Amino acid sequence: MKKISLIIPCYNEQEALPIFYKEVTSILKSISFDYELLFVNDGSKDNTLQILRNLTKEDDHVKYFSFSRNFGKEAAMYAGFKNASGNYVAVMDADMQDPPSLLPQMLNILEQGEYDSVATRRVNRDGEPIIRSWFARRFYKLINKISDADIVDGARDFRLMKREMVDAICAMGEYNRFSKGIFGWIGFRTYWLPYENTERVAGETKWNFWKLFKYAIDGIINFSQAPLSVASWGGMTMTMCAFISLIVIVVRKIIFGDPVAGWASTISVVIFIGGIQLFCFGIMGQYVAKLYLESKHRPHYILSETNASDVGMLG
Ligand code: UDP
Ligand code: MG
Repeated sequence: MKKISLIIPCYNEQEALPIFYKEVTSILKSISFDYELLFVNDGSKDNTLQILRNLTKEDDHVKYFSFSRNFGKEAAMYAGFKNASGNYVAVMDADMQDPPSLLPQMLNILEQGEYDSVATRRVNRDGEPIIRSWFARRFYKLINKISDADIVDGARDFRLMKREMVDAICAMGEYNRFSKGIFGWIGFRTYWLPYENTERVAGETKWNFWKLFKYAIDGIINFSQAPLSVASWGGMTMTMCAFISLIVIVVRKIIFGDPVAGWASTISVVIFIGGIQLFCFGIMGQYVAKLYLESKHRPHYILSETNASDVGMLG
């Protein structure tokens, strides 16, 4: 019998977890597949771990992997992918924003064999601040233009994938992970399933505008070298302009004998160029910082507790 693995990253999800578990179990029981639920406790500070321990006592479909601290959703997903044994694997949020009711339909599409993965995208952004939606849309336009990562606007991390895809994802062992980009970068045939956005059932979102903004910048730096070219092209244009104005000043001096004037404008130009230089250094710094972290080869996560056997505690 074919098996489905569901990966559920959990960070402070004590209210949502019982609701999620009940709903997803009733759906998985109704289809003719074996299944496992891989809960990754990402250093929760509430009772999430206790709830997971209790679930394993009642249900042997449940496995949990508990991190030694909060490593972030990307690390949690990676831990799930590395330990999933199913023929089909999906990542799902614990807050019911990825509706488990879509699973049978997604399985159906994969079983027909034409696609390697079924990904979900929300068609509306109801309940989200307008400014956040605006930035999100700009981000998707930009990253598709300047990188190989094919990312659809409104794409969620919720997607059901075949084994081959999961193996490809595990093979991408980079430290700075941006899964939306990784899913697109590895290729394969993906079916996009649109659905209406739903609000979280319980608990609170872990994202604010500033965190999302940093996430977007990380996505761009991880999947594109375009900012580096912008820095060098900008520098080149500035040099050209400076050169031309130099010639103009010299010629004007020779022909008209202008006295020196414009102390203020000189200072503004110096400051302006200084600013641009620092900005470009900053861009380079971002890449160097990523390189620095990558070169340390630190583990993506550290497990402190799990009920699964044969699992490496570092990954
Ligand atoms: N999450 C996690 N580690 C974190 C932050 C979030 O594992 O550091 C999990 C969280 O428990 C949830 C999923 O990632 O299952 C999505 O988080 P959230 O619902 O806060 O994000 P949103 O849906 O608001 O984008
Ligand atoms: Mg959510």
